[in-house]
Amino acid sequence: AQLDTLDIIVLVALLLGTVAYFTKGTYWAVQKDPYATSLANGSASKAGKSRNILEKMQETGKNCVVFYGSQTGTAEDYASRIAKEGSSRFGLKTMTADLEEYDYENLDQFPDDCLAVFVLATYGEGEPTDNAVEFYEFIGGEDVSFSEKGGADGEPLGSMKYVAFGLGNNTYEHYNSMVRNVTKYLDRLGAKRIGEAGEGDDGAGTMEEDFLAWKEPMWTALADAMNLEEREAIYEPVFEVTEKPEMSAEDDTVYLGEPNKNHLEGASKGPYNAHNPYIAPITESTEIFQDKERNCLHLEVDISESNLSYTTGDHIAVWPTNSGREVDRFLRIINMQDKKDTVITVKGLDATAKVPFPSPTTYEAAVRYHMEIGAPVSRQMVDSLAQFAPNEDIKNEMSRIGKDKDLFAEKVSSKRFNIAQFLESFGQKWDKIPFSFFIEGIHKLQPRYYSISSSSLAQKKKIAITAVVTSEASEGSDHVVKGVTTNYLLALKEKQHGAANPDPHGLEYALTGPRNKYDGIHVPVHVRHSNFKLPSDPAKPIIMVGPGSGVAPFRGFVQERAEQKKKGENVGKTILFFGCRKEKEDFIYREQWEQWGEDLGDSFELITAFSRDGVNKVYVQHRLKEKAEEVNKLLEQKAYFYVCGDAANMARDVSDVLCGIISEKRGVSKQKGEEIVKGMRAANQYQEDVW
Ligand code: FAD
Repeated sequence: AQLDTLDIIVLVALLLGTVAYFTKGTYWAVQKDPYATSLANGSASKAGKSRNILEKMQETGKNCVVFYGSQTGTAEDYASRIAKEGSSRFGLKTMTADLEEYDYENLDQFPDDCLAVFVLATYGEGEPTDNAVEFYEFIGGEDVSFSEKGGADGEPLGSMKYVAFGLGNNTYEHYNSMVRNVTKYLDRLGAKRIGEAGEGDDGAGTMEEDFLAWKEPMWTALADAMNLEEREAIYEPVFEVTEKPEMSAEDDTVYLGEPNKNHLEGASKGPYNAHNPYIAPITESTEIFQDKERNCLHLEVDISESNLSYTTGDHIAVWPTNSGREVDRFLRIINMQDKKDTVITVKGLDATAKVPFPSPTTYEAAVRYHMEIGAPVSRQMVDSLAQFAPNEDIKNEMSRIGKDKDLFAEKVSSKRFNIAQFLESFGQKWDKIPFSFFIEGIHKLQPRYYSISSSSLAQKKKIAITAVVTSEASEGSDHVVKGVTTNYLLALKEKQHGAANPDPHGLEYALTGPRNKYDGIHVPVHVRHSNFKLPSDPAKPIIMVGPGSGVAPFRGFVQERAEQKKKGENVGKTILFFGCRKEKEDFIYREQWEQWGEDLGDSFELITAFSRDGVNKVYVQHRLKEKAEEVNKLLEQKAYFYVCGDAANMARDVSDVLCGIISEKRGVSKQKGEEIVKGMRAANQYQEDVW
């Protein structure tokens, strides 16, 4: 048994090394595209291209840098909030810094009267976010080599004071591993941590409250350690917004939602990536639920005219626009509707402030294309909005709500208000809020990822998307939360099918995009490569568990295996566990499973679980248990095991069931069963694509 464990440890170490090596390769290809960076920076402050953070801080007179490792923008958003608060409450001279834009070899020279803050999201299976890969490898290296022999107290980072907050999800095995590991490495190098490292949990839905609960004691500890005096927070704009009455929205230098210069100046050019989307034609769009209440879309996006490529299991990112209904609501409540087409320029007031969208632009374009105005309004935002309230009573009420967690839950979050809906609830216009406040305080509108539901072997140039349209009514609220992206896609589908009113929910999306550049059913996209992959040898058996829209990547996997079979390859056992509510409502891709099942013959098996057809609720986990014998046998033959879909419950339940199956069928303890599954994960034999 000892040998077994040792074997596993060695194997795990080897495989982790390999995975790290290959993921770095992928990230490198995606992120290090110099063109991408120059595009991204096209509109941002040009000041200081230096990768030397100390030089940058010195030049700009900063004594606090907030580094962020961010994938979807939340960590970046928290970083700006910390920077702003540090400045307005404690007079710190703060800046934020994208970890990928700086070198770290001189961190041993970090001045001891300065502060470094690390806001780090953990991505996927305990990985760093794309922009933090290099930093993570550097700081965690066996033999970190700093350029100078700086430091203090005999430690390389002995002069660095730091604070850390992590963003994670407890449904993943490596919960918050980025912040945990980075603080471990920083401590090992002698850096002085101030306060506890915070951990936010997206899995429990408490990220925001975790952040708020962490930051107050952190500020107290920091004020103490750095002798800072708190003052009344006053709003200091980070951006200067200047109206340009001499310019017109028709001018061809004005951005009306174009994501970058390249798009403004003409037909978009590749390479396409996270900074530069491809305006892709949607060639097919259908609804695949029979259910009248809910919508599920199948879309085919044509990439043949681009240099984009994908492999089965990758993700496609869709760049949404906000609905006209929410854009109007937002502009109306802040009394700017009459000015919506006014041209503005946005400039960082100091060299380190990065303008999050290109300018000159218009108020409306900034709101429609660049701000996450539909997201739930945060408690901190409510608190800081109080100072701009239309009258004293509202100001006091706002302050109360902003400071009281329970009151906030009652008055705001249970109602699922976005910022404009919340402001509207006071029945008054809010015309004292500077526009820069919104640019700083509202999250940048993010592309949404979808697991590609086609096979690149079967259809190299056409990417399929399977998306359930988000439409959520909830108790305590009279409005229905309409997902930004999925309702935009639904409207595009309606338009493609010639609907007289291409907007089933009256959301009024600007479907033809800025300057009608998206006319003719186009959507901006880019591709993100993933590690969720079929075994390279098709003869290997695979077991897939994908309820609901979690079946998306498995549609691609099964299509791929059917194609391989048609090409005469030896294809191993291919089992799919699929679950939905009712066979007649949301059993998606039924005909295709039948078709591919015929192509694959006996090697394909589809096992269904319908939760609302019978008396008892049957889920994929139950079916998995019923098939314990076969599942275990296949795993012993080194079958790959895949799970996709709901991260909060299903993925964890499936993992638990699998541990149970292994322990029961192999006559080993539960703990040993868990170890085996852990080993499978590390060896990439167990892969998850969950959200
Ligand atoms: P959003 O507007 O982003 O809303 C999302 C959720 O946020 C809502 O459901 C609601 O719970 C909450 N919310 C929004 N506004 C408010 C508010 N005002 N108050 C309170 N709560 C609010 N989805 C698929 O359907 N198919 C896939 O194949 C797929 N693959 C994915 C792969 C990856 C790697 C990831 C990360 C996600 C994937 N998703 C997939 C999910 C997808 O990216 C989107 O999150 C989903 O489609 C919803 O997007 P949306 O813009 O329509 O909704």
